[in-house]
Amino acid sequence: MTRKKGGPPARPQQGTPTPGRRTIRMMVIPPPPNNTRSVIVYTGPGTVAMRGSGNVTMVCGNCGSPLLENVKTSQFRNLVVLCKNCSSFNETLI
Ligand SMILES: [Zn+2]
Repeated sequence: MTRKKGGPPARPQQGTPTPGRRTIRMMVIPPPPNNTRSVIVYTGPGTVAMRGSGNVTMVCGNCGSPLLENVKTSQFRNLVVLCKNCSSFNETLI
């Protein structure tokens, strides 16, 4: 068995020309049972539950409303956000 190393790395491009800034569509999940997940339920104005100083905007996987704006993906591992617009539970996968 021979395998060559050092080929060009496969980089999936998703048509976002602006470097550094990304929009990630979150994944809609079924409502988690109580006390099994950290769920962010936002009730203020607009749909953005949290804003930060990162470069990633996460939008609802169902309706596309922004839920987390300018965040860092490392801050939001394994978190569930309830979309205020369509009441979908969205999971941060990254
Ligand atoms: Zn939504």
